[in-house]
Amino acid sequence: MDRRQFLVGSLTVGAGAAIAPRLAAAEIRSTPHTGDAKMAFQQPPLPYAQDALTPFLTAEQVSFHYGKHHAAYFKKLNGLLEGKPEAALPLAELVVKSAGAVFNNAAQGLNHSFYWDCLAPQGGGEPKGELAAAIQQQFGGLKDFQKVFSDAAAGLFGSGWTWLAADKAGKLEIMSLGNADTPLKYAKTPVLTIDVWEHAYYIDYRNERPRYIEAFWTKVNWEFAAKCFAAARK
Ligand code: FE
Repeated sequence: MDRRQFLVGSLTVGAGAAIAPRLAAAEIRSTPHTGDAKMAFQQPPLPYAQDALTPFLTAEQVSFHYGKHHAAYFKKLNGLLEGKPEAALPLAELVVKSAGAVFNNAAQGLNHSFYWDCLAPQGGGEPKGELAAAIQQQFGGLKDFQKVFSDAAAGLFGSGWTWLAADKAGKLEIMSLGNADTPLKYAKTPVLTIDVWEHAYYIDYRNERPRYIEAFWTKVNWEFAAKCFAAARK
């Protein structure tokens, strides 16, 4: 098993042709440009109704998380980039190339879109196909993987995200990253993520992050994760 804790930070990786497949994978459901200079980046619609993830998340929890927190990152990002050339970049490319406040808001915009895609009303169960085989081979089975991932998410100090990420060779890695940090900064493709910022669970679970993490598995969209795993290796 491979469990590593990553430091909070923004390791800069080279941009260019080499990262193109990873950016494509991160934008499986892309963030549309509006063509409006004041609102260049548009928050993608929630892929299901706000009450569709019950009992994992109530409509109130999703409403605040999607409608207030996630929306605010796009609003701030558009304000920061108004009239600037970076506003024309694809969002994932902006995440890889930026730092500071632009990075924080761009990455949080993208991280949350990815998080919503990692969940589904009919989710849960088990992965299939190549992702299932890779989890079996590299973690010893789904339950073993879920334990390491859940422990990493529960143990992440402060705000951040726990990710399953893959490299081009299909090697999987669990990455617990602080604040807005993302595997894209480490030249890895996101496959699955859980948001462990308190705003992600506090309405439904109060301070009980481990209970939120346990329930997360009942709504994981393994089909989406499998698509991301396939895209990582292209
Ligand atoms: Fe969040």
